[in-house]
Amino acid sequence: MLVTDMHVHSHFSSDSSEQPEAIIQTAISKGYSYVYFTDHHDMDFPVHPAAPLMDFQLDFDRYCRTLLDLREQYRSQIEVRLGVEQGICPETAAGLKALNDSYPFDFVIASSHLTSLEQGDPYYPEYYEGKSYVDAYREYFASEIENVRLTDSFDIYGHLDYAIRYCPDQSFVYRFEDYRDLLEVLLKLLVEKGKGIEINTSGINKIGFPHPHIETLKLYRQLGGEIITVGSDAHQKENIGSHFDKAEEQLRQIGFSYYTVFKERKPEFIRLS
Ligand SMILES: [Zn+2]
Ligand SMILES: [Zn+2]
Repeated sequence: MLVTDMHVHSHFSSDSSEQPEAIIQTAISKGYSYVYFTDHHDMDFPVHPAAPLMDFQLDFDRYCRTLLDLREQYRSQIEVRLGVEQGICPETAAGLKALNDSYPFDFVIASSHLTSLEQGDPYYPEYYEGKSYVDAYREYFASEIENVRLTDSFDIYGHLDYAIRYCPDQSFVYRFEDYRDLLEVLLKLLVEKGKGIEINTSGINKIGFPHPHIETLKLYRQLGGEIITVGSDAHQKENIGSHFDKAEEQLRQIGFSYYTVFKERKPEFIRLS
């Protein structure tokens, strides 16, 4: 059994209404040693007219104050660790450091929800206009490469192939080989910089495999990658730890002996049982 879930959202994220205390209670009931909060912040996020409340701006002061108070309150039962999911794109990536250095984070996920601030959101059909789906996702991976070149201020890169879950054509089949060249560049860069990736189990329900695809996880391992966190990307307490048995099994099959948690931005390696 894993000791925690490294990717969880509460009502501090625009797309969640979950109470932090309910998350803590769930983590305690699951027997976790730590509970992580990784709420969304997407710098300069272009609010879409179809979803005016989704601005993904985090009130950092209130967020940190609330979680640090909860850390004290629950000290005898579970350790509350302060994380954040920073959405970045090439226009904003360089701004990450100043933000992350201003708060006492244990763990920073960098994620791509956008390839650019303009027409760069793969959630919406406009993103796919005038290009094939394969080109649309190649553009997504290329922007991740650019982000990693632009900043070191993160611990792991989140859900590496997240965009593919929003393909407007349900019959589209994702083939790792169509992106292998770009993924190799991306993963090599992450390994060189000492950065991790996650196995994000939210993909299992949505598209039948985790983010990223198992072949991408294998490639990260082959390239010498050792830092892997496990997260559900739960936006409701019911999804905390979802499909973790499967994730553990997949990591073992790939050849990982350890998974990683972070405290004060430093990795701690825990043996897969
Ligand atoms: Zn995300
Ligand atoms: Zn998330």
